[in-house]
Amino acid sequence: MERSESIPLNFQEVEPPLSTQEATDEATRCLYCYDAPCITACPTGIDIPSFIQKITTNNLTGSARTIMEANPIGASCARVCPTEELCEGACVLNQTSKPIMIGKLQRYATDWAIQNEKPLFTAGKRNGQKVAVVGGGPAGLSAARELALLGYAVTVYEAETEAGGLDTYGIVSFRLPKRISLWEVEQVKSLGVSIQTNTRIGVDLSLAELQQSFDAVVLAVGMANVPPLGIPGEELHGVYDAIDLVKATKSTTLPQQFQGKRGVVIGAGNTAIDGATCAVRLGAENVKVLYRRTEAEMTAYQFEYEFAKQDSVEFRWLVSPIAVLGDEKGRVTALKCAEMALAEADESGRRTPIPTGATFVIKTDFIIKAIGQARHRWLDDVGIATHNGVISIDHHYETSVKGVFACGDAIFGQGQGEAMVVAAAEQGKQAAYAIDKKRRSQRAETSA
Ligand SMILES: Cc1cc2nc3c(=O)[nH]c(=O)nc-3n(C[C@H](O)[C@H](O)[C@H](O)COP(=O)(O)OP(=O)(O)OC[C@H]3O[C@@H](n4cnc5c(N)ncnc54)[C@H](O)[C@@H]3O)c2cc1C
Ligand code: SF4
Repeated sequence: MERSESIPLNFQEVEPPLSTQEATDEATRCLYCYDAPCITACPTGIDIPSFIQKITTNNLTGSARTIMEANPIGASCARVCPTEELCEGACVLNQTSKPIMIGKLQRYATDWAIQNEKPLFTAGKRNGQKVAVVGGGPAGLSAARELALLGYAVTVYEAETEAGGLDTYGIVSFRLPKRISLWEVEQVKSLGVSIQTNTRIGVDLSLAELQQSFDAVVLAVGMANVPPLGIPGEELHGVYDAIDLVKATKSTTLPQQFQGKRGVVIGAGNTAIDGATCAVRLGAENVKVLYRRTEAEMTAYQFEYEFAKQDSVEFRWLVSPIAVLGDEKGRVTALKCAEMALAEADESGRRTPIPTGATFVIKTDFIIKAIGQARHRWLDDVGIATHNGVISIDHHYETSVKGVFACGDAIFGQGQGEAMVVAAAEQGKQAAYAIDKKRRSQRAETSA
C-alpha cells in the first residue's frame, strides 16, 4: 500500500473495544462498593457500580441509561475522560490489584446503545417555557437535554455546521470518532430540542433578540481559537492553528501538505499533543514539540504525553519561539528560538521561564500553534461581565445579566475545575437546574 493510501487508517480509533467476554469478566471484578468512591470522583456522579452490575446481567439498555442519565455526553466521556485522575483513580482496587476499567465498560454499554439505536429518554411534559442555548458543545447539549427532560422548549444555536463542539471537531478522531458525538447530538434532538446550526450569536442573531424571545438564555460558547504567538513571521504560509488542524482531520478529506515534511508544535498542553500526533499521522517525517518550561510543568495529560512519544513526537524543553523565518515565496523555512531557564517559583507556585540570552534556529516546513485557546471577547460588548475573558457567574450559574446563564469552558478559570468534557457536561446540567429553580420560584411568586 502507498504511504498516502494508508493515512486514513491512522485516523481510525486506536483503542479497541472490549469484547463481550472481556466486558463481563471485568464487570464481575467490581466490588459494588457501598458509598462507592468512584461515584464521587466522577464529576457527573454516574452510578458506576449500578451500570457495571447491569453489564453482568446483560441489561445493556439499562446500563447505557444509567450512564447517560447522569451524563448526557457519557459516550464521548467513556473515550476522553482522564479516568486515572477521576473514577478509576478512586477505585478501591488500586490498593490491592488494578482499578476496574470504568471508561472501557462505559464505552461498552454506550457503544451497544449506539449500535442498537436505542432511544434512552423521553421529553418531559411541556411547561410552556422557552430557553435558548448558545453553543452546541458538551455544556450546551447537556443543558439542553436536562431542560428538555424538565419540560422546556429548547433551541440550541450552534455556529458550526454540526453540533457537538470540540467533541465533534476538536478531539482527534483516533480517540473520539465524530459519529460518537453526533449520536449524542441526535439523543438530544430526539427530545424535541431544535438545533440551529450555522447560526452564530452576535453575528446572525443578537443576544438581545434571544433575551426578547426566550425565558432564559444559556451561554455555552466554550473558548475561541488558538491566540496569536505575537512574533514576527507568524502570517507566513505553513503556520497552522492546532484546533483548525484537528478539525481538518475530522472532515471528509484529510490534509495532504504534511507528508514527508518536518514540523514544530509550539505549546505543551493537550492541544499541542493532539496537533503533533495529527501531523505525524498525516505523514510528517519529524515533529518536535517546543515548550518554554520543562517536562515537569507541561499541562498535557500523562497518557497523552506517552501516546505522543509512541507516535515518535520529539519534545524540546526550555525553548521559546522568537521569529518565524520564511523564503521569498512567503513559506515557512525555519523558526528562530530563544533558550530559556526557569526562575524561582512566583506567588502562584509556578516557575517563570526567562531567556538565557542564547538563540538558535530550527529548520522546519510547518509550525503548529497550540498555546491554549483565546476567549470570546464579543461578550464584553453585549454587557456580560467577564474577568480576563472568562464569563463571571454567581453560585447559580447566572451571569451579570439576569436571565442569562453560562457553563462549560466559557466559565473555566473561575475555580470551576479543569476544562474537560465531563466537567462541561456537569455544569450544563447544573445551569439547567438553576434555570428551572429560578423559573419555578418566579412562577410561584406570580401565581401567589
Ligand atoms: C484539542 C483539544 C483536546 C481536548 N482533549 C480533551 C480530552 O481528551 N478530554 C477532555 O475531557 N477534554 C478535552 N478537551 C477539553 C474539552 O474539549 C472541553 O473542555 C469541552 O469541549 C468544553 O465543552 P463546551 O461545551 O464548554 O465548549 P466547546 O466544546 O468548545 O463547545 C462550544 C460550542 O459553542 C459554539 N459557539 C461558540 N460561539 C458561538 C456563538 N457565538 N454562537 C453559536 N455557537 C457558538 C462552538 O462552535 C462550539 O460548538 C480538549 C480540548 C481541546 C481543544
Ligand atoms: S464520565 Fe468520565 S469520570 Fe465519570 S465515570 Fe465515566 S469515564 Fe469516569
